[in-house]
Amino acid sequence: MFLIDSETALYGVAGHPVRHSLSPRLHNAAFAKSRINAVYLAFDIEPNYFKALLRTAPSLGIKGLNVTIPHKEAAFKGVNYVPSALDRKIGAINTIVFRNGKSYGYNTDAPGLLEDLRSKLHISVSGARVLLVGAGGSARAAAFGLAQAGASEISVLNRTLKRSQRLASELSRSFPKTMLRALRSPVQAGEAKFDLVINATPCGMQNDAVAFDLSYLRCRPAVYDLVYTARRTPFQKKAASLGLKNANGLGMLVAQAAIAFGIWTGKTTGVRQAMQKALR
Ligand code: NAP
Repeated sequence: MFLIDSETALYGVAGHPVRHSLSPRLHNAAFAKSRINAVYLAFDIEPNYFKALLRTAPSLGIKGLNVTIPHKEAAFKGVNYVPSALDRKIGAINTIVFRNGKSYGYNTDAPGLLEDLRSKLHISVSGARVLLVGAGGSARAAAFGLAQAGASEISVLNRTLKRSQRLASELSRSFPKTMLRALRSPVQAGEAKFDLVINATPCGMQNDAVAFDLSYLRCRPAVYDLVYTARRTPFQKKAASLGLKNANGLGMLVAQAAIAFGIWTGKTTGVRQAMQKALR
């Protein structure tokens, strides 16, 4: 571990609220493992100040930032370049690199989710029929990532129908081969067949709520919950009680962080393991 000195590089996560974030633990463990003299902090930035942070970060010597609720879309609009076409379609980023006075934005949530679906649920997304619950920022990343990876059907179920309809129609413009639809009710979801159900709402984060009752289903999909605050989330518990294969979002959290770390430093060896160890 390096002592903080005048050479120490600065990274961090900007969010509001942000004190619950596990990212400092993950990234500081990865810097130590990779023997990089850098520190990663959590910046509680109110929306009014986010633009100012983007403008001043390079002059403060900040080399990279993660961005979380509620800044992902503002970050997308505020950076100079978003190199990936998929990230431009998602319209939200969670990782920024500052280099030579320019800022570059990336979305690592989508590849992080796909990596964890493969590793925890052994799911091949190609050809899969997916029920996506939620239509917010992480649901957008999930939907575009799944469509790009070849999902054959994506049905979006959201509390606010207008938002799921907008997401489904944006997706269908970009991915005409994927069957996309916004579902009107959980009952309608019960009539369809799915290989995978994903919760991309915050339900279950701080209470026992679930955004979709899995008992409506007559099929037996694998179940993934983006929420990671409990060892077993309420959505996972329900899936387990129905005998469905399930995982929570902790693996995605590590995967998206490791991908961001790779973008900043070029280092990947031992990074995921160091991050996982930091969460124990
Ligand atoms: P967001 O942009 O605020 O979107 C929230 C979505 O959840 C919206 O579709 C919203 O519906 C719906 N929702 C909120 N409260 C609800 C309720 N009580 N009942 C039913 N639906 C509800 O949030 P986000 O950034 O997508 O994050 C969603 C969750 O994913 C959070 O728990 C976050 O921590 C988690 N996440 C995890 C990872 C990971 O690495 N594991 C990465 C990113 C996010 P309306 O449209 O009707 O408001």
